[in-house]
Amino acid sequence: MGKIIAITNQKGGVGKTTTAVNLCAALAEFDLKVLLVDSDPQGNATSGLGFNKEEIETCLYDGLVDGVSAYDILLHTQVKGLDILPATMQLAGAELELAAALGREFRLRKLLAPIKDDYDYIFIDCPPSLGLLTINAFAAADSLIVPIQCEFYALEGVTQLMKNVTMVKENINPSLELEGILMTMHDGRTNLSEQVEREVRQHFSRQVYKTVIPRNVRLSEAPSFGLSVLQYDRKSKGAEEYLNFAREVAGL
Ligand code: ATP
Ligand code: MG
Repeated sequence: MGKIIAITNQKGGVGKTTTAVNLCAALAEFDLKVLLVDSDPQGNATSGLGFNKEEIETCLYDGLVDGVSAYDILLHTQVKGLDILPATMQLAGAELELAAALGREFRLRKLLAPIKDDYDYIFIDCPPSLGLLTINAFAAADSLIVPIQCEFYALEGVTQLMKNVTMVKENINPSLELEGILMTMHDGRTNLSEQVEREVRQHFSRQVYKTVIPRNVRLSEAPSFGLSVLQYDRKSKGAEEYLNFAREVAGL
């Protein structure tokens, strides 16, 4: 119970947040209890689920830096069964403020420990960097989902990411595993997408999910309405594939 999965890739704009929000919403539809931890100061997962960041008084920062309890930070989303530990710009200060703090790598693990078993799944939406927030996510997580965009330079940075995972395993979290690699923004009309998919499958073989997320405009529109794609347009290809992905992740 209470499996913690970080969604990570230090490359920006590869679909981490889109995957975090829609995977969580899809799993909640299968009657699972899900928590999304927004560990990115951009707060895209927070706003994508309909929260106005300006109105949020207590966020992940307070939990990591000031030891505020997760119970005092978490918010229920409008998706039944899905809660969030929100982020605001304030979280950007955490990297600096924790830099010299004792146990700085384990703040998130400590924050999540008391609520872990209230949920079937906890997902952490990581920022596009390998800083202290990402290290905290790696230290707290049981496993990682790495979204890779079907684009030129798809694998750029992935070698570095894997090196960091090895370093984290050796030094802070020996049981950290790779849950799987998700191909995102696949465009069936281009040879490039097919080529990148083939290349990634060759490189990582069975670690790549069967489900491939297509490029779908509904997925990019939904966050501006504060909705998951399932609420925004559940007949869309994007909604369909995130439901398939949820089934694959949860083994349903
Ligand atoms: P960052 O590194 O900045 O946190 P990210 O990895 O979280 O970015 P997203 O924010 O999920 O990436 O996606 C980047 C942009 O691409 C967003 O505008 C999003 O709406 C869009 N997008 C993501 N996935 C898809 C998709 N499958 N089809 C179309 N647009 C998508
Ligand atoms: Mg993001």
